[in-house]
Formats: sequence, C-alpha cells, structure tokens
Amino acid sequence: MNSTIQKLLAGVKSKNPNEPEFHQSVQDLAESLSPVLERHPHYRAARILEQIIEPERTITFRVTWLDDADHVMVNRGYRVEMNGAIGPYKGGLRFHPSVNQGILKTLALEQVFKNSLTMLPMGAGQGGADFDPKGKSDFEVMRFCQSYMNELYRHIGPNTDVPDGDIGVSGREIGYLFGQYRKLRNEFTGALTGKGCEWGGSLMRLESTGYGVAYFAAEMLATRGQSLDGKACLVSGCGKVAQFVMEKLIDLGAKVITFSDSSGYVYDPDGVDSEKLEWLKELKNLYRGRIREYAEKYPAAEYASVEVGGWEENPIWTRKADCAFPCATQNEINLKDAKNLLRNGIELVCEGANMPSSPDAIRLFNNNRIMFAPGKAANAGGAAVSGLEMTQNSMHCPWTGEEIEHRLKMIMKNIHEACLNAAEEFGTPGNYANGANIAGFMRVADAMIDQGII
Ligand code: NAP
Repeated sequence: MNSTIQKLLAGVKSKNPNEPEFHQSVQDLAESLSPVLERHPHYRAARILEQIIEPERTITFRVTWLDDADHVMVNRGYRVEMNGAIGPYKGGLRFHPSVNQGILKTLALEQVFKNSLTMLPMGAGQGGADFDPKGKSDFEVMRFCQSYMNELYRHIGPNTDVPDGDIGVSGREIGYLFGQYRKLRNEFTGALTGKGCEWGGSLMRLESTGYGVAYFAAEMLATRGQSLDGKACLVSGCGKVAQFVMEKLIDLGAKVITFSDSSGYVYDPDGVDSEKLEWLKELKNLYRGRIREYAEKYPAAEYASVEVGGWEENPIWTRKADCAFPCATQNEINLKDAKNLLRNGIELVCEGANMPSSPDAIRLFNNNRIMFAPGKAANAGGAAVSGLEMTQNSMHCPWTGEEIEHRLKMIMKNIHEACLNAAEEFGTPGNYANGANIAGFMRVADAMIDQGII
C-alpha cells in the first residue's frame, strides 16, 4: 500500500470508526484507482476520491410501529445519499437486523460505480432499517413500511432519490412503501422502482439482476471460447437474485447443483430443473417456507443446516463444479472457501450478491487465473432495469418484456467490455474488479469536475 493510500485510509478510519466494511471498501477502491490518479493529476487536484467516499447526505431516523399484540416497536431507519453527480440518487432499501450505517455506506459506495457502469443517468444511494420482516405478519410489515415512509417521503422523489428493493425488501414491501408515499404526497410518480407491473413497475425488473449475472458470466466465458452450456454451477441464496440466476443458467444449458437460505443449504446432484425451480419459487415467495422442504420433496437432494454460530467453511463451496455464483449476502466466500473452490477446479466466480467475497479470496482468484467478476459489475442488471423503469415512468409508457431484456443484455455486454478495456488500459488485463472501479469512477469523476466544487 503506498503512503497516499495509507494516509487516506487513516483519515477514513478516524472519521468513520467501527465501520470495517466501509474501510475495506475504500482501501480496495483506492488501490484500484491508484494508477488512474497517477495518470490524471486533475482528479488528484480536485480531491475526487476524497469527495466520492464522503456521502452527500446521510439521514437517520426513528421508525415506531405497533406489532400485532399492540406493543410499541422501535427501529432505526437510514438513507445514505452518496453521489448525485450523474443523476438522482438510486439504490436499494435493505430490511435486516444486521443493517447499520457502515454497511449502508459501503453498499452506497459500491452503487456509485455500479450505476455509473450502466451508462444510465443514475446517481447512487442506499438505505434500509434494522427491521427483520422474517416471521412478521403482513400487517406488521405494512405498519412498519408505512412508518418508515412517514419520514423517508421528505427525502425521495423521481428527480431526487429513487429507492428500490434489496435484502428483505421485495414486491410486498415496495407496495406498502409506495402506497404510503402516494398518500402522503398525493401524487403518482416513480419515486420507487421495483413496483408491481400493474402500477408503474417494469417488466423484467424482478428477473433483471439474476439474468444480468448469467449474461455477464456468459460474456466472461466467451473470452476463453467457452459457454455456460453443460457447466456445473454452485449458487448460494434463494432470494430475488439467486432465483433468477438459476432460471437463466438453466435456460442457457447449465446445471445448477446448490442453493441456500439463512437456515441451510441444498445439494441436488441431479440439478435443479425448471419444474423444481418453479416449486422452489412458490415455496419461498408465496409460502415464505424454508429450503429444507425441497429435500423432503426431492429425495435425491441433500440438505444441511447452518452450524450454530455460522459456517467457518461454507459447504456450498466444497462441492465440485465449474462456476460459482454467490447470491446471498456479503462475506460468504472467505479465504478458506476460496481455497476449497480452487482445489475443486472452479473456473469462474461471478458475484450476484454485493461483496460476497473477501479481499483475500478475490486475490486468490486473480492470482490463479480464475475468472472473477465483482458484484458491482456482474449484478448491475438490476440497477439498469430500475433505471429503465424510471425512464418508462417519465414517459408514462411501458416497454415490452422483449424490449427490456434486449436492452439488459446489451447493457451487460457493454459493462463487460468497459471493465475489460479499463483493466487492460491501466495495466491489469483480465482483472474485472479493477476494471469496474476504474470505468465506473471516471464517468462520475468527470461529471463532478464539470459541475465544480459544490
Ligand atoms: P433476498 O431476496 O432477501 O434474498 C436473500 C437470500 O439470501 C435469501 O435466500 C436469504 O435466506 C439468504 N441469506 C441471507 N442472509 C444469509 C446468510 N447470512 N447466509 C445464507 N443465506 C443468507 O435478497 P436479494 O435481493 O436476492 O439480495 C441478495 C444479494 O444481492 C444482496 O447482497 C443484495 O445486496 C444483492 N443485490 C440485490 C439486487 C436486487 O435487485 N435485489 C441487486 C443487486 C444486488 P432467507 O430466505 O432465509 O432469508
């Protein structure tokens, strides 16, 4: 680490204590961008990196609501408006007990580069609350969402900040949030994306993140003259991203042999086919069930519960396969997991989740010529179709699913190319993580310089 990065990091740590994820993210970013700052002194003079890592605005607020037994419940809500240089703030809302300001700042920083890579006019933000929808009744979730929006509505709008879903925030939560926004504002505008298709949502939004990940992986393999057809694939997670990664992988001829939820994981040596996937979607989305039931329904599949205190080595990554798609949450591939993948001959790791691989795991992949795509590039399809939802809302005119999927495919192809070109230009050919940081950074940095010191 050079002395400039060391100094920057020391400042970040003292100004943002107890936010290890944020420190790590800034360090990775600074290391990737070092050659760019070296070559472009005007970025250094304008202290663009120092500006980019400081949120434009952070909002923290109390969310009070009543549970079904009329007990008063108190949660903490957040919205981090990270960077608005290339468009309205845009990024997900996460409802999960692990949510805190440091995690959201880290996700918001990642979002800056992701949204920039899509080439759509979207700034970056991220928000959420330490609320767990799991185990709550629909009415409890509704009351929480309404109370959350009672504060958030002041800060969002179609030209200001446009939140979407993330972990724990799906169609149901977006519906309740949008309903309350509409009531408070007395207007029907695209202030949220991920809406139902009958009320301003976009076709393909649900599928977009997962499909985009599979398209990105297909582009990566094509650089080595290969395709997904016949590849054995490990998927983790079983939520909005994982379900549609699986769907597109199956569509492209791959064999998906694992998936997981926060209780455990399933290994299905026969592969998850379209019929099994439909059953799984119904289990998770309609009945909000646990994946253990999959192994009961399909006896060839094995199920293992998460060890008490979490897995030290995630057994998903010990299974032999060609490609790995971590799609659950952050930090789900540590160095030990990465070594297991390497030992079993994995060829490609393509992140569906945000920051699922630890920095030392990523280093191991890059040092061993395992193709590795960071989430900020590979899962940008969700952000892209959210951007397309904003466009359709502004035009008051929906596009067809074919039109959107075509645009999604082109966007993922262009992101892939932009990453490879930037990595090559700045001396690390084939390093998608560096390429994504550099290509995403330069667009935002140039806009910030054009707009002056504000
Ligand atoms: P989701 O629908 O809430 O699904 C998350 C899945 O991961 C669920 O199956 C959940 O299990 C599982 N999970 C959560 N924590 C886990 C843990 N500690 N260990 C094992 N499994 C765990 O969320 P999502 O929207 O798919 O998001 C997944 C990841 O993708 C996140 O990193 C998110 O930031 C990222 N992402 C999402 C989008 C999007 O469009 N949704 C876009 C870009 C990136 P349970 O069923 O037990 O809860």
